Amino acid sequence: MKKYIITGLLIICIILALDSNARSAYFVTAIRSDTTTFVNGRRVVLLSYNINGSRYMKIRDLAYTLSGTSKQFSVGWSGAQNAILLTSGKPYKAVGGEMSRSGEATGMARISLAKVLLDGNEVSVYVYNYKGENYYRLRDIGRIIDFNVGWDSSINAVIIDTSKRSTDKDASPNPFIARIRNIDPSKPMVALTFDDGPGAQTNAILDILERHNAKATFFVLGNRVSANNRTISRAYNMGCEIAGHAWSHRELTALPESRIRSEIHDTNRAITSATGAAPTLLRPPYGSVNSRVRSVSQSLGVPIITWSIDTRDWSNRNANTIYNNVMRNVRNKDIILLHDTYSATTNAISRIVPDLISRGYQLVTVSELMYFSGMTPDPGAVYFRAR
Ligand code: ZN
Repeated sequence: MKKYIITGLLIICIILALDSNARSAYFVTAIRSDTTTFVNGRRVVLLSYNINGSRYMKIRDLAYTLSGTSKQFSVGWSGAQNAILLTSGKPYKAVGGEMSRSGEATGMARISLAKVLLDGNEVSVYVYNYKGENYYRLRDIGRIIDFNVGWDSSINAVIIDTSKRSTDKDASPNPFIARIRNIDPSKPMVALTFDDGPGAQTNAILDILERHNAKATFFVLGNRVSANNRTISRAYNMGCEIAGHAWSHRELTALPESRIRSEIHDTNRAITSATGAAPTLLRPPYGSVNSRVRSVSQSLGVPIITWSIDTRDWSNRNANTIYNNVMRNVRNKDIILLHDTYSATTNAISRIVPDLISRGYQLVTVSELMYFSGMTPDPGAVYFRAR
């Protein structure tokens, strides 16, 4: 039985979810699995994504599975109305693509409210679009067709009962953009971080990261954001994390509270307009923190991230030294300080990235590192590493 519970590939993914006004961002997991599902006691296996605790499935898989029950429905498409058409009570005609297993869970995805017409009436259903495939939230389908959806944790199975009514409420109107990543939380991971950019080296560093499908975190200066919007968008769209390093690189501990606030807030606003996502972390210049910096960070909702390995690239400017400072000291869950402003750093990175990967490290963003380490960073608190 056990091997049927989750067959095939189980992919742990991570999603950066944004609320609609982009003031805060939070991480959730998306797990793609072949999911044991009992429909009126009959066992089937359906491909699903578990996103933030909700199951998302293909509408045709569900229609196929419910065929012949009292809650069967047909599925059509109206190009003119740009809507999926469901007709309750009608048998579903299979098209041959049901119960498919496809898609690698990487890249950008979007969760939105789909336009669905049920017997001609518009209903709201969450849909997760990934590489052209749509996955509908199972509880929303249960709610509109009116069948009961449950979960049996003792056998890790979805339970659909068409003889019982749905107990689910309307979908809350809070669509979000999802970022999907393959990360194995049981394997080692580190976060490369680059401060003071975007700078002359940022694109060369992104080229290296891209070549190895690695991600990093860029703590950017607010006063450099608008001139480098394209570079920041590129990094963000590659799956890198963009966070603030204050506006002007002044040491925040020397500033009054109002100025600390504007240094952080203005930077975060500039990043939000460049990427569409509000940053969720702060790295103060020089790593300098005092009680004022902590309390402003707390009120702005950002945890403070420093580092566990300083490559000292800012002082040695030597690729071999930078390389050795990383490779001789690195441990699981480290946060590594670098700068995307020195060519020596780029040269070092061209060896560090493949060599860390060949040692078994996953190169993740700081937020991914925290999330997969089971840490929920508190705004205003200081984190050196994720262990
Ligand atoms: Zn700096």
